[in-house]
Amino acid sequence: MIIILNKASEKQVQAILEKISEKGFKASVSKGASKTIIGVIGKNASQFLEEFQNMPGVEQAISVSSPFKLASSEFHVEKTTVNVGKEIFGNNNAGMIAGPCSAESLEQVLEIAEKLHNLGVKVLRGSLFKPRSSPYEFQGLGLKGLEILEKARSEFGLAVETEVMDVRDVKPVSEVVDCLRVGARNMQNFDLLKEVGRQKKPVILKRGLSASIKEWLLSAEYILNEGNPNVILCERGIRTFETECRNTADISAIPLVHKLSHLPVIFDPSHAAGRKDLITPLSLAAIAAGADGLLVEVHSNPEKALSDAKQQLTPEEFARFLQELRPVAKAVGKSII
Ligand code: PEP
Ligand code: MN
Repeated sequence: MIIILNKASEKQVQAILEKISEKGFKASVSKGASKTIIGVIGKNASQFLEEFQNMPGVEQAISVSSPFKLASSEFHVEKTTVNVGKEIFGNNNAGMIAGPCSAESLEQVLEIAEKLHNLGVKVLRGSLFKPRSSPYEFQGLGLKGLEILEKARSEFGLAVETEVMDVRDVKPVSEVVDCLRVGARNMQNFDLLKEVGRQKKPVILKRGLSASIKEWLLSAEYILNEGNPNVILCERGIRTFETECRNTADISAIPLVHKLSHLPVIFDPSHAAGRKDLITPLSLAAIAAGADGLLVEVHSNPEKALSDAKQQLTPEEFARFLQELRPVAKAVGKSII
């Protein structure tokens, strides 16, 4: 249920919040210029619709049919922006995250971190835990790679983000990095979602390989419901019958998420395409469709990369990519590095 208040006094808002809590429900408050919207979360909350409807200050109490509540645009009047270090995701800013698929060594990370920093990048990606299809492929440096990311941050002032796959790693990783990422394969690992929801760091939640938008937003709900409001959704392509690309970029997911949710949504062209030549056109399409940022794989020497060699841009290619992106971002009212 949502309760819409018009020009309500602080006292009236408090009385409603107290009643919500008395009934054992949770509240999510979103304040606009004159209207305040209170989302009420709890099983069968709408049976009390009339009771809330009759309270002072209430313009309307409405039952919400959407299965996700905290993630729903019905609950929040304004769009949410999420900050990662000095980068902003949402509204008129398209945030940029760039870096190698995997952190491979201190030298490799520092080399690419310096180049990306010089190009204006503020958030460095670098996975320490790799969800590989084969157990014989490079699995990532694991927790011991954390000090490498920390070094990149202290040398170049970059924020760092990395994927978590195991509930047990969430806390130690979260103590070091600026942003956690839940990968496509773990989008419905509900224990992992709850654990990242208990952290103070922003979370990038990638869309599952075969997940519907509704399932994706319900997964975001798990994180929000634990008290972490800083969720960035990331479209990374879905599985279809098409085999020319690694995945099929679902550009329609971007405007759809903007309709259904207040959360920012970014796009990962690297895992969507799985090949370099489509990174720029897909990113242009995503930005034109309103994406709140991009997550792009860049490696100083892609052919030698220990994972995803075919889809990583060189820093020079990334610089050209940025040049092509800027006019389109500007045309849709978005700033980009
Ligand atoms: C990644 O971003 O490193 C990754 C593994 O992507 P995805 O989870 O989208 O496959
Ligand atoms: Mn990758």
